[in-house]
Amino acid sequence: MGSDEHIVMLPYMAHGHLIPFLALARQIQRRTGFTITIANTALNIQYLRSTISTDSNSSFRFAELPFCSSDYDLPPNTENTENLPLNKIVNLFHASLSLKDPLRRLVGDIIDKEGRPPICIISDVFFGWAVDVAKSVGTVNVTFATGGAYGTMAYISLWRNLPHRSTDSDEFPMPGFPESYRFHRSQLHQFLRAADGADMWSRFMQPQISHCLESCGWLCNSVEEIEPFGLQLLRKYLKLPVWTIYKHPSSSSRSSISRQRAGKEPGLAPEKCIEWLDLQSPDSVLYISFGSQNTIGASQMMELAIGLEESGKAFIWVIRPPLGFDLNGGFRTEWLPEGFEERMRESKRGLLVRNWAPQLDILSHKSTGAFLSHCGWNSVLESLSQGVPIIGWPMAAEQAYNSKMLVEEMGLSVELSRGIQGVLVGEEVKRVIELVMEREGKGEGMRKKAAEVKEQILSAVRDEGEERGSSVKALDDFVRTILSKRTEQSTMLNL
Ligand code: UDP
Repeated sequence: MGSDEHIVMLPYMAHGHLIPFLALARQIQRRTGFTITIANTALNIQYLRSTISTDSNSSFRFAELPFCSSDYDLPPNTENTENLPLNKIVNLFHASLSLKDPLRRLVGDIIDKEGRPPICIISDVFFGWAVDVAKSVGTVNVTFATGGAYGTMAYISLWRNLPHRSTDSDEFPMPGFPESYRFHRSQLHQFLRAADGADMWSRFMQPQISHCLESCGWLCNSVEEIEPFGLQLLRKYLKLPVWTIYKHPSSSSRSSISRQRAGKEPGLAPEKCIEWLDLQSPDSVLYISFGSQNTIGASQMMELAIGLEESGKAFIWVIRPPLGFDLNGGFRTEWLPEGFEERMRESKRGLLVRNWAPQLDILSHKSTGAFLSHCGWNSVLESLSQGVPIIGWPMAAEQAYNSKMLVEEMGLSVELSRGIQGVLVGEEVKRVIELVMEREGKGEGMRKKAAEVKEQILSAVRDEGEERGSSVKALDDFVRTILSKRTEQSTMLNL
């Protein structure tokens, strides 16, 4: 393969998108030797750069695109979703449109230097506008969906088929899914529930998704074998090639972003979690985390603690101030049952970790037996790649559809709650935790299923001579396709 080719990549500015983009960049570069430029705002580039420096095998180029958040009613210096209030996320989306001209200039500079455009621009599913940029500079665009196929399919179908308020019943069919499939109103996140096509969210999402349908193909951060149904639906809907490429978290590079961020939390050493897990018995610990940016309501937090304590199971809980409080502010003991933290510490039953924990290291530890998760796609894949069954508590974006798939298609999850407003009762928390963590019955079945999925993921990324797994084959096919587009373009130009 021609290693003098160049690819430009443009992730959306959120932790859960930057990580899979970086993983994809690593995959492509290792396989092809292509030059890869990752473009983003200065702050996100700084973040990515420091991550890369811990991995001496990667050499990417980084391009800082000028970005001005002040025109979009955002807190000063906002460049990503970290600590951004939920009601301001849509402003960040609109502000991201200001990256369009800088991206075009970046590609123009590459053309000036190299005498031809990059072979493609890989852009986030939220940046459909990059399709126009690619066309205008004589290259192709590939959309990268950092979510899974099933969840992405439901999410794009919802945005393209507004409004949903008019649904009479609580349950509704989803365009693009078989007629027998029913989705529930509570699975629409709050912005979709209010969307009518004219609101700020719809005005951003609808055109972006439509543009992405004009890409020359989609990359999906998933594994062919684990969601065949979702992929079948997505391919039928898009009528485009969809390449599923997954980077298994290897021990050398795993959670490097995570480690750095964990290291910044005062008093929390990632090693502390691992030392604590070392003292527990196999499959006995429930890990609880709601991703990089969520927290739960105050009463939900109280009930979760009550249920946890009553279940008698060991746990690591990544804990943040509840909804409505400053996520960076101090944690108040009154948010938990009286004496809860001391009881857990003294009995060594529970470890409360403030704000951020080394997730992959925890999930890959033999003591971890289940994951109470918001079902963000990275968390789902990290859990499945380690064979850990899930207790779902989807909160936003496409998480409810990920959760639905884990329960209905994969049989390795039970949903505990939905959304940040839902009523949670300690008794139910206890029941679900026991169900999933017991060594027999449903819990054991889920553990077996999760172990099978782990094997499927391992075989998808296998790359030993002739034995190439589905993920490696998809990567090769993607590269072949974009190279052939280059040939088509050159032929047209010569004519
Ligand atoms: N993460 C972590 N420690 C935490 C919380 C999150 O390392 O305490 C990482 C997690 O491993 C995953 C990412 O943050 O890679 C979260 O991405 P996901 O798609 O699950 O959720 P999002 O944050 O986008 O809602």
